[in-house]
Amino acid sequence: MRVVVVGGGIAGLAAARRLEALFEEIEVVLVESTHRLGGKLLTEHVDGFVIEGAADSFLSRKERGIGLCEELGLGAELIARRPENARSFVRRGDELHPLPEGLTGMIPTSLEALSESRLLSDGGRERFAAEENLPAAPPDGDESIASFVARRFGREAYERLVEPLMAGIYAGDGEQLSLRATFPNLRALELEHGSVLRGLAAQSRSESPYPAFVGLRSGMQTLADTLVESLEHTTIRGGTPKPLRTRAGRYALDVGDVLLADGVVIATPAPAASTLVSGLDSELAELIGDIPYASSAVVTLGYRREDVRHPLDGYGYVVPATEGSEVLACTWTSSKWEERAPAGHALLRVYLRGISPGSDQQLVDTARAELSLLEVTSEPCLTRLHRWPVGMPQYVLGHPERLERIDTALARHPGVALAGAAYRGVGIPDCIASGEAAADSIVRSLSPVAG
Ligand SMILES: Cc1cc2nc3c(=O)[nH]c(=O)nc-3n(C[C@H](O)[C@H](O)[C@H](O)COP(=O)(O)OP(=O)(O)OC[C@H]3O[C@@H](n4cnc5c(N)ncnc54)[C@H](O)[C@@H]3O)c2cc1C
Repeated sequence: MRVVVVGGGIAGLAAARRLEALFEEIEVVLVESTHRLGGKLLTEHVDGFVIEGAADSFLSRKERGIGLCEELGLGAELIARRPENARSFVRRGDELHPLPEGLTGMIPTSLEALSESRLLSDGGRERFAAEENLPAAPPDGDESIASFVARRFGREAYERLVEPLMAGIYAGDGEQLSLRATFPNLRALELEHGSVLRGLAAQSRSESPYPAFVGLRSGMQTLADTLVESLEHTTIRGGTPKPLRTRAGRYALDVGDVLLADGVVIATPAPAASTLVSGLDSELAELIGDIPYASSAVVTLGYRREDVRHPLDGYGYVVPATEGSEVLACTWTSSKWEERAPAGHALLRVYLRGISPGSDQQLVDTARAELSLLEVTSEPCLTRLHRWPVGMPQYVLGHPERLERIDTALARHPGVALAGAAYRGVGIPDCIASGEAAADSIVRSLSPVAG
């Protein structure tokens, strides 16, 4: 029996590994359209700088990130952010306002720290604190992130504090994004504890041995590379399969020659997944193809330390949409992580939203203009640009219902499974879990005994 995995990002790689582990007799073939594996796990090592093209860390509380790293022997590679610089800022105009300490995800848990910060007005802080005593909304329906946060904490807290943090994750518009699909835990806290703040306080009592975010010493691509090395009988080949067809009870993938498969894991971004299933099921193709995406770009700049006057005493800052800037965030990478820049140098990273029309030079110029805030006095000694045109799926209102309809349509095609960021979580641990779940479902459909 043969299973083909299409897409060699972290979701596809995790699926291949799981297929090997579940079923030795299966021949696994992984088809990737570009010259490299890892997808959005992309690290470059240039002149002593370690440059993350996209993801630079992942959440430790979602178990398959740490879990997979440990299984691959990468436990000693996991690193925490530099504790001496544990603060971040929000830019308003040309000023950087410290984010209050005690942030859990996007929500400050210490009202005392919030009142020390000048990020919210007096009225805004009072409204925020009132959350503890607001009744919970009845348990039905979905709402946007913006609507939920404004309802619980006030509009000002949404615009000045939560929106830029949320946009740093989804590169998207909180008025459009579904709370149920992005932060279902916040709504669960409201329902279970009557208040998000009271719920977060109760949660913080459960301790984890790991810091909230972890990175990898040599960069995130090490996770993909090590995973590839761990594969024992997966054949990896280049190619972009044409739309799937059925042939004599099997699936046919045309990648120049035709691969016949008993199972197919589709682990590409949604536009490519839609094309792949279009030969099987036009309704399924449309449902997947309608998942919107945000594009973004990451400009990474290296400087001699003495050429940046700012103390860089934090992890960086986020920029609220209300600022009308193309910049989503600026990370002071060498202050956030050890060993990202050679001695005497600083590495900075500017995350830009919506990139389609800009030339490479325009994007770099926008990033460099942003850095005037940090009083940069010279040309960079390193410039790297990574564009992500189909970068981040947007779980807009209706996404959970769309997933239900996708599942119903998918049930018409036993042996086909979907994985990756487009569906049930964009973070690396969720993508790993989705690849593994896809492998499980394929093996179940191939072998009633294994199920
Ligand atoms: C700028 C940026 C920063 C991020 N930062 C973080 C972070 O700090 N922490 C975090 O947890 N997450 C982060 N994410 C999200 C996370 O990196 C991604 O959601 C995740 O890596 C996606 O994995 P994937 O396997 O689903 O897809 P991808 O990584 O997109 O992999 C899909 C693969 O499929 C291939 N492919 C596409 N079409 C075809 C086809 N037709 N045939 C064959 N192959 C095909 C692609 O070339 C690619 O290799 C970030 C994302 C971006 C864009």
